[in-house]
Amino acid sequence: MIDGDKIVEVGSHGQGADVVIDGAGKIVLPGLINTHTHLSMVLLRGYADDMLLQDWLQKKIWPCEMKLTPEACYQGALLGSAEMIMSGTTSFLDMYFYMEDVGRAVKETGLRAVLSYGIIDLFDQAKAKSEQEKSRKFFDYVRSLETPRIQFAVGPHAPYTCSAETLLWAKDFAEKNKVLDHIHIAETRKEQADFQKERGSRVVEYLDKIGALSNRMVAAHCVWLTKSEVITLARAGVSVAHCPASNMKLASGGVAPLPEMFDAGVPVGLGTDGAASNNSLDMLETMKICALLHKAHRWDATVLNAQKTLDLATVDGARALGLQDQIGSIEVGKKADIIALDMHAPNLNPIHGKETVVSDLVYSASPGNVDTTIVDGRVLMTNRHLNTIDLEQIRQNASKIAEGLAQ
Ligand SMILES: [Zn+2]
Repeated sequence: MIDGDKIVEVGSHGQGADVVIDGAGKIVLPGLINTHTHLSMVLLRGYADDMLLQDWLQKKIWPCEMKLTPEACYQGALLGSAEMIMSGTTSFLDMYFYMEDVGRAVKETGLRAVLSYGIIDLFDQAKAKSEQEKSRKFFDYVRSLETPRIQFAVGPHAPYTCSAETLLWAKDFAEKNKVLDHIHIAETRKEQADFQKERGSRVVEYLDKIGALSNRMVAAHCVWLTKSEVITLARAGVSVAHCPASNMKLASGGVAPLPEMFDAGVPVGLGTDGAASNNSLDMLETMKICALLHKAHRWDATVLNAQKTLDLATVDGARALGLQDQIGSIEVGKKADIIALDMHAPNLNPIHGKETVVSDLVYSASPGNVDTTIVDGRVLMTNRHLNTIDLEQIRQNASKIAEGLAQ
């Protein structure tokens, strides 16, 4: 039972409700939480694949991103929102450019989001000032939206694109304003090797030394970590957004040490990363890829089971974003962020009993099975019909923009 934006009762009778959604043959779940993405990057989906990372960035992605406009990011965010709603994601943590326009799109589509402007100062003091100013302006913008559904995070892109001053400014800003500090850490072996060569310490050691780590930090990737760096992250209270599909597609090499993170008590959530490096925003697929990657990597089928993988995409993701009191599970008092999957589909049958349903969700489910998506008590999708988005119109607009970007 939902009243306003909250869950007020959990049961099956539904008595006294104004509107009843028939759940027969459906599995009801907390909405999935994507803890790291770049929503508007859906515009670059499929544009450049199967390339070496540096070529991919320098020859394809960065030249395209130079041509981005506020309108492009707005339309990209609408398309990305449609994909999220249709694949059961209800909350996400984002980092990109023209974030006011992303915020406008998210406000319209009804999703829950924590949004950050990607700060890149390239160790230039003047640029650092202007980037910090842009982030501050975006902070004011998010406040002006006056909805707890959309929150701000400060977003220093990475330790190799931001000066120590900017990283510390971000930590400070996050602390003062009680917001998240969203960053990419130790994504590739090259990043780790360059750090050791140029600064004589590993990436997390460096961040620890300058005092940039905090319990407000959500660090995407964290692929190339030693055990002692995992402990350092745990001590500082840093959360990790694990992006297995992106790491595999970009051949980051290595695998984020999830079992060690669990042992050390690091909060871990799952992310898709941007659609240019995935190429979807599908969290159901991300769960499966995550579980399989760690089994294959450790030669151990028990290393990550279906229940823990589902937790990563729900309750654990909420904890990674510091939103565990609000989202991540279906409980009285929490926000009504709920999805329902139709269990009549052939890929979800037969059902061997209640205890195997979690396996079905992680290893067999696909976005087409998501029937209903509710965020903040509002039904954003009914029987796969989007209620807040004109999909055909958005598809046309996004195609036109993508054509311009690729030229
Ligand atoms: Zn990213």
